[in-house]
Amino acid sequence: MASKHHPHFVMFPFMSKGHTIPLLHLSQLLLSRGVTLTVFTTKANRPFIADFLHRHSDSVSIVDLPFPSDVEGIPQGIESTDKLPSMTFFTQFATATKLMQPDFEEALEKIPHVTCIVSDGFLSWTLASANKFGIPRLTYFGMSGYSSAVSQQVGVNRLLSGPETDDDLITVTRFPWIKITRNDFFEPFNQRNPIGPHHDFVMEVMIAMMNSHGQIMNSFYELEPSFLDYLNCESKPKAWCVGPFCLAETESTPPKVDPKPKWVEWLDQKLAQGCSVLYVAFGSQAEISSKQLEAISKGLEESQVNFLWVVRNSEMGVFDELQERVGERGIIVREWVDQLEILKHESVKGFVSHCGWNSVLESICSGVPILAWPMMAEQPLNAKMVVEEIKIGLRVETCDGSVKGFVKSEGLKKTVKELMEGEKGKEVRKKVMEVGKAAKEAMSEEGSSWRTLDELIEEVRTVR
Ligand code: UDP
Ligand code: UDP
Repeated sequence: MASKHHPHFVMFPFMSKGHTIPLLHLSQLLLSRGVTLTVFTTKANRPFIADFLHRHSDSVSIVDLPFPSDVEGIPQGIESTDKLPSMTFFTQFATATKLMQPDFEEALEKIPHVTCIVSDGFLSWTLASANKFGIPRLTYFGMSGYSSAVSQQVGVNRLLSGPETDDDLITVTRFPWIKITRNDFFEPFNQRNPIGPHHDFVMEVMIAMMNSHGQIMNSFYELEPSFLDYLNCESKPKAWCVGPFCLAETESTPPKVDPKPKWVEWLDQKLAQGCSVLYVAFGSQAEISSKQLEAISKGLEESQVNFLWVVRNSEMGVFDELQERVGERGIIVREWVDQLEILKHESVKGFVSHCGWNSVLESICSGVPILAWPMMAEQPLNAKMVVEEIKIGLRVETCDGSVKGFVKSEGLKKTVKELMEGEKGKEVRKKVMEVGKAAKEAMSEEGSSWRTLDELIEEVRTVR
């Protein structure tokens, strides 16, 4: 029987934009189903969250816990991985969050009738807290079903320990149409025998995820049924597929008020001129060498396409020079943008993307095909899924054909032109529009994700 109490979820996003944004979208979905929320975060991350959920202030409480101080490698005041001096500090940062456990529990104790805790997979220690209070924990694990299932199979069967070279093709036995290489993985998982602090951290994350009440997936069943069936039938715990979360925006967001940011005005102008635009962005974490940035600049310049490039390294002079050379044809943005607003803009017809899972979903929901250029984490697997499995994008050409190879300006120019003007580009554009339509159907009333979210809320209410 369902609990007599009104459903109240505790949300605890991990402190990075790529992990926080999807959980805030999920929060919006839950709020529209009448769930009330307490969102846990830290002081520095509070403004972003408060701003995101400001229209729901009656149904949301935000609790900020002190972020641990004096952690080696983490400058004081940095409370988000996208603000770290380098991603080499990621594991220290993620491990330091464990020190928040006593404060979390002290605050949790004061919240009456919590239905469940939805916390990021990286915050594995929240499982122990949930267990202490007898509250079910649902893990949010921001990966595609494809990448989760393939990584699990690779790990369990130690598929990467065999081959001689990093580019040797290995068949994933459980999904025999998928061929991977060691190059599709990053340190330490590209080693024959992965060890070290990051490996240990990921193992803890996986074990806590498997021992949790369930997993919430940012995906929809029709997108990747074979992989979601695998996760639900051959692996634990149950994977609730209730996405794409980014479509929550269309449900509850009023239209943007003026003044528009300058890049949206530039997009409007391109649309009025009947021009199409290539959007270029590599997410909030990617670290790109200056040599590679120069090759991107040259490739974009020579491709002759209109482009909007969002960059993170504001100190690089290379951008000023490029802006001067291309004039009105391109715009380089160094600020935080509303990526979804850009992707949804009618002028945007292609996306050069690092294939972070949120970016892939946002591109699908906007009907924009991808030029896949994976940079880190599970992005090479997402790129494979995009290009080979769902066929909504092409792959950028690297100088040696390998996944991690350098991309020369000519390679970028050639593949950009193929995406924007070529036959293959046409095919993937048609496909992404179909997939985008299926995503919207899944999220609309009585669609698969819609129903699953209702079932999930009902189910957790019966647990306590
Ligand atoms: N911020 C955050 N996490 C942090 C540090 C800052 O979310 O670890 C937020 C901060 O609250 C503000 C925004 O990021 O809303 C901008 O922060 P900052 O002043 O560091 O500006 P930046 O130079 O990075 O744009
Ligand atoms: N994003 C954004 N504005 C920016 C940079 C990023 O809105 O200027 C958003 C983007 O839309 C996505 C998230 O930040 O929702 C990045 O997540 P993703 O999984 O694509 O990549 P990550 O940053 O985790 O590598």
